[in-house]
Amino acid sequence: MTVTSESSLAISGGKPAVTEPPGDLFTWPIITEADETAVLEVLRRGGMSGMDVTLEFEQDLKQWFGMPHVLCHNTGTAAIQAALWAVGVRRGDEVISQSMTYWGSSLQVFSLGATVVFSEMDPNTLTLDPSDIEHRITERTKAIVPVHYCGHPTDMDPIMEIAERHGVKVVEDVSHAQGALYKGRLVGTIGHVGAMSIMSGKSLACGEGGFLVTGDQEIYERAVAWGHYSRTGKLENPDLKPLAGMPLGGYKYRMHQLSSAVGRVQLKGYRERMTVIQDAMNHFWDRLEGTPGLRAHRPLVASGDTMGGWYAAHGLYRPEELDGLPVSRYCEAVNAEITSGFSVRGGANPLMHLHAVLNEADIYGDGKPTRIAFADRDLRQPQGSLPVTESLPERCFSIPWFKHYRPEQIDQYAEAFRKVAENAEQLQ
Ligand SMILES: *Cc1c(COP(=O)(O)O)cnc(C)c1O
Repeated sequence: MTVTSESSLAISGGKPAVTEPPGDLFTWPIITEADETAVLEVLRRGGMSGMDVTLEFEQDLKQWFGMPHVLCHNTGTAAIQAALWAVGVRRGDEVISQSMTYWGSSLQVFSLGATVVFSEMDPNTLTLDPSDIEHRITERTKAIVPVHYCGHPTDMDPIMEIAERHGVKVVEDVSHAQGALYKGRLVGTIGHVGAMSIMSGKSLACGEGGFLVTGDQEIYERAVAWGHYSRTGKLENPDLKPLAGMPLGGYKYRMHQLSSAVGRVQLKGYRERMTVIQDAMNHFWDRLEGTPGLRAHRPLVASGDTMGGWYAAHGLYRPEELDGLPVSRYCEAVNAEITSGFSVRGGANPLMHLHAVLNEADIYGDGKPTRIAFADRDLRQPQGSLPVTESLPERCFSIPWFKHYRPEQIDQYAEAFRKVAENAEQLQ
């Protein structure tokens, strides 16, 4: 094939595909005067450590999710830890989750004296593969933590069915997927409790913060008792009442009110902004339909699933269609086409099961790695134990996360990915 000026890759001196500067195409969160006013109001009256704005934010969130209980936290990590304790995860217990995720999905189990067992992931959704879970359940398994990874909803129906059958609770990690739908239902409202981060990188962004949402009053009250000492006076559970006044976890998880103030404003506009992002991201993938080596990481429209705000958007990479071109080399060539505004990388979060913290670290001085300090067997998972998950760093890549629907500009980015894939032989 002759190399024309259109097909000559920027990495070898051709013309880059993206010529327009990005402007605010990627800027997030979108801050307006309403956010500024809300923050200044709290700041000027010295209300940072109060509760009034946070309680209002909880009301907004209950309405948004259509759920009776929401509890705001100072981080998503804290909300997930509280949720795990509240569903009954205790010393020696096991939690099942996925290995490719931000560590805050499950690493908190160590602070509960519990441990994590990683289950395989579905290579197309990058979420838990329901067919690999059941054989990992033991009498010590207390919870499953599905992560709606990079916005993609986990296949929840079979997971709920397995959980019910084994008396295991489901804690959804919704940090990547606020507003995403699974078969038309909001993720976070399907498991026994949904917990999530809303730190400012996330698609619903408040600053630093997180919350949990649940239909179960017992779970809600236990989470209050765990990390919200100033709210324990209102608990109805007779087991918790005598303990009121001090947090059972020894943690203080109250949300900073500059965060809840921003969160309230961001939530008001979230549905609308999410729709714009969905239009933009779907436009990007529609343009790339049929490109060798590339697959969209998104559900079929007919499934009733959506990607929420497409947090940390990724694509699926199929190197066998590109003569085995490594994803890192592919991304390097795409970055040369993009030149400014966004750089992409192969892979996603580092795999948890291969990290030293999950294998060697003795964090609490038990004389054993913390992962197995209270376990009844060596449940560590060495290299080779999760072949599908371990193949994923070579089989996905980050893509630009568009915050505005500007088709002509987005087309240039899509062209960068298409051009490199269609001319991959120039990189061999
Ligand atoms: C961001 C994130 C968290 C933790 O949230 P923080 O608010 O940063 O503590 C948990 N799980 C996932 C998947 C995340 O991306």
